[in-house]
Amino acid sequence: MIPFDFEYYKPQTITDTIKLYHDLDLMGRKPIYYGGGTEFISMARMHNVYSEAVIDIKGIPELNIHEMKDNELIIGAAVTLTQIAELNLFPLLSLTVKRIADHTIQDKLTIGGNIAGTIIYRESVLPLMVADSDIVIAKKDAVDRLPLKDVFNKRMNLEKGDLICQIIIKKEYLNLPSIHVKRTKVEKIDYPLITMVALEKDKKIRTAFSGLGGYPFRSSKFEQLLNSNKSNKDTKIKDAINSLQSFITDDLHGSSEYKKFMLHNMLYEALENFEEGNK
Ligand SMILES: Cc1cc2nc3c(=O)[nH]c(=O)nc-3n(C[C@H](O)[C@H](O)[C@H](O)COP(=O)(O)OP(=O)(O)OC[C@H]3O[C@@H](n4cnc5c(N)ncnc54)[C@H](O)[C@@H]3O)c2cc1C
Repeated sequence: MIPFDFEYYKPQTITDTIKLYHDLDLMGRKPIYYGGGTEFISMARMHNVYSEAVIDIKGIPELNIHEMKDNELIIGAAVTLTQIAELNLFPLLSLTVKRIADHTIQDKLTIGGNIAGTIIYRESVLPLMVADSDIVIAKKDAVDRLPLKDVFNKRMNLEKGDLICQIIIKKEYLNLPSIHVKRTKVEKIDYPLITMVALEKDKKIRTAFSGLGGYPFRSSKFEQLLNSNKSNKDTKIKDAINSLQSFITDDLHGSSEYKKFMLHNMLYEALENFEEGNK
């Protein structure tokens, strides 16, 4: 049971939503956006979050868009992980979201919630990182389309009341050769020990990771070393992994040494797969 009362709002436009948030905030109601609501419900039950006004964002048409338009894939922030997997317009994203939680929960979790939520893994960000995606954010006075890399640094840099509206991926990235690997400690359905996505564009491999440390990341230094023209794969991978020293941390899922060992094998297989595909 949620141990406090709250008002429930379901606005129908972005403008109304932003205004409502700021009005409620001024009244001291501690408003919160509600996508799938899984995080709000579980954290409220545990007394880890408090709000007197929940703003359900699923009634806003722009946040439910899921279609190709002018050579771009547009995914509204209220689209669920199940919808993404089923429509499968960006296979690397579909593979990634299919391994977040289980089937039943995927029906509830929204992509906006996965990106903006407090749980550190935010795995759906990884394919968006390697595909140079943009993100549309509604702010108090404007709606901006921004490169994800400019607004995601360890987490989304959102100001109070900012609403993630859409994610936009250019068509040219949707069907490039790609790989998704998720390793967990024991169970198949769990938070990642390491999740890696890799995508090959213009003969260069791009990679992004979750689970290695405290946040999802993509590293240009790592990619430069991984794509170097050294012929020995093992050396290339070792050099690349060494550049990630500061990113890889011990946690409950595994030690940093174990993660490096796993990562080496994952990268070796990934490079072999890409090579095979290029034959
Ligand atoms: C059982 C379970 C297993 C999970 N396993 C994984 C996993 O393996 N990998 C992984 O990456 N994650 C995992 N998660 C985390 C999950 O993806 C996040 O908790 C996510 O926030 C839930 O999405 P939601 O739509 O329910 O979010 P909500 O509870 O609706 O929202 C979460 C937070 O994000 C904010 N928010 C939501 N939408 C927006 C928006 N459009 N703009 C701005 N702020 C917004 C809300 O205000 C709230 O603070 C798991 C969660 C559960 C419950």
